[in-house]
Amino acid sequence: MHIVVCVKQVPDTANVRINPETNTLMREGVESIVNPFDEYALELALQLKDRHEAKVTVLTMGPPQADIVLRDSMARGADDGVLLSDRTFAGADTWATSYVIGQAIKKLKPAVDMVLFGKQAIDGDTAQVGPGVSEFLKMPLVTYVRTLEVNDGRFKVETLMDDGVDVLEGPLPVVMTVVKEAAPPRFSSLSGWMDAKHAKVRVWGTKQLQATPDLCGLKGSPTKVVKIFAPPVKSGGTKMDGRELPSAAVEAILQVLQKKGIKS
Ligand SMILES: Cc1cc2nc3c(=O)[nH]c(=O)nc-3n(C[C@H](O)[C@H](O)[C@H](O)COP(=O)(O)OP(=O)(O)OC[C@H]3O[C@@H](n4cnc5c(N)ncnc54)[C@H](O)[C@@H]3O)c2cc1C
Repeated sequence: MHIVVCVKQVPDTANVRINPETNTLMREGVESIVNPFDEYALELALQLKDRHEAKVTVLTMGPPQADIVLRDSMARGADDGVLLSDRTFAGADTWATSYVIGQAIKKLKPAVDMVLFGKQAIDGDTAQVGPGVSEFLKMPLVTYVRTLEVNDGRFKVETLMDDGVDVLEGPLPVVMTVVKEAAPPRFSSLSGWMDAKHAKVRVWGTKQLQATPDLCGLKGSPTKVVKIFAPPVKSGGTKMDGRELPSAAVEAILQVLQKKGIKS
C-alpha cells in the first residue's frame, strides 16, 4: 500500500498578519512549522504503516526551504519526501495548488492507494486543497476522518459530523482529510532526525511533472484576492442590570434603541 500525506509549511502563529496593500500573508519574522492538522494525517498514515506493509510518502508544494517539513515528517517515520518547487508555482490559489499536487501524485511510483490531508491549513484556512486534489485525481473524497482502518483493499473510517459520527466504508484508492480528534502525533527520535537530515528529497518542478505552465501559479489561478482584512473587534456592549428594578432596565434599553432609530 502506498500512502501519500500532503503537508504544508505554515507560519507558527494563530494571529496571521496580512499585507493590506498586496493582500498576501506577511511571513517575515515568523517561524514556520508543519501545519498542525497535517501532523494528525501523518500519524494515521504511520499507524497504517505500523500495522500493514505500507510506504508513506510526504509531499509539499512550497519554496526550497519548505523541505524542512518533509524532513520533520521523515524523522517521525515517513519513507520518502517530494518537494514541489518552481517559480511558475508562485502565487497559486487553491485550484492551481491542487492541480500541481495532483500531477505529482499521478507521477508517484508505485501507484498511490490513499492520499491524506489535514482538515485545513491554519494560514489559508480554506480546506479546499484536499477536495481539489480528489477532483483532479478523480478519486472519491472522505472528509473529517478521525479513525482509519484498511483491510483487503477497503477502508473503514469514522468521520466527525456536527451532530455525531458517521462510519463509512469503501474501496481504495481514496482521498481523505483528517481532523485533530485523530490519534495524537508521535514525536521524532534523535536517530530519526539524523537519518532525515541526510535523506534525499526529490524536487519536482513543471518539467518533471509535465504540468501545463498556464495551469500553475498565478496564471492558473481563477480566483483573485480582492480584499483581505481582519474583522473589526466588537465592543463588549452595555450591560443593564434589571434584577432590582426590571422596568428601569427595560426603559433604559428602549431609550438606547430609540437613539439608534430602532422603533419598538
Ligand atoms: C484566491 C486565493 C489567492 C491566493 N493567492 C496567493 C498568492 O498570491 N500567494 C500565496 O503565497 N498564496 C496565495 N494563496 C494562498 C495559497 O493558495 C494557499 O495557501 C494554498 O492554495 C493552500 O490553501 P490553504 O492554505 O487554504 O490550504 P487548505 O486547503 O486549508 O489545506 C488543506 C490541506 O491541504 C494540504 N495542503 C495545502 N497546501 C499545501 C501545500 N502547499 N503543499 C502540500 N499540502 C498542502 C495540507 O494537507 C492541508 O492541511 C491564495 C489563496 C487563495 C484562496
